[in-house]
Amino acid sequence: MDVSTLLENNRAWVARTRREDPRYFDAMARHHAPLVLWIGCSDARVPANVVTGTDPGDVFVHRDVANQVLPMDSNIQAVVEYAIDALHVEDVIVCGHSQCGGVRAALDGRTGHSHVDSWLDGIRLVQRLHREELDAIDDPALRYDRLVELNVDEQVRNLASMGTIQQAWERGRPLRLHGWVYKLEDGLLRDLHTAHPRPTTPGKV
Ligand SMILES: [Zn+2]
Repeated sequence: MDVSTLLENNRAWVARTRREDPRYFDAMARHHAPLVLWIGCSDARVPANVVTGTDPGDVFVHRDVANQVLPMDSNIQAVVEYAIDALHVEDVIVCGHSQCGGVRAALDGRTGHSHVDSWLDGIRLVQRLHREELDAIDDPALRYDRLVELNVDEQVRNLASMGTIQQAWERGRPLRLHGWVYKLEDGLLRDLHTAHPRPTTPGKV
């Protein structure tokens, strides 16, 4: 696809949107009040708005290779802080997906791309932590699917331990963390009901 097509598509979308709602862009420019923070994979096949049937303005998005929530990553720390403290988002979703190239690369060994390899060390750690369970799965496709789930679980736990999240809970903010997996083969999202450390005071989550 020639990128000029994207600019043409944009002009067509603006014209169509203005026809349907002449005040759409004025309203969009005035308010930024997303419902959720979505932490997903950079994979082009999993666009947050499309797969959740939401509109521009509904979802605050962070995407990286294999939906990692790494303590050393100042990018995601800033995104989470802004989403929670400034935008007052109350639901955070970490969403992995089937056929994730990042997870597969971690399973297969080194990629030869130094930045990618360094980034995927987090998944290799998840793999080591759950080696017994993963080794017991004979079917490589099922083992791969399971590592996608375990990676989501681990990233939700990383999220729960972030200072921004802990402080929000301590202040009594309603804040819920979710681990989901998107299946490319059928387009469905599944809630993993991921367990993570929560504040013990009732009513805080
Ligand atoms: Zn992916």
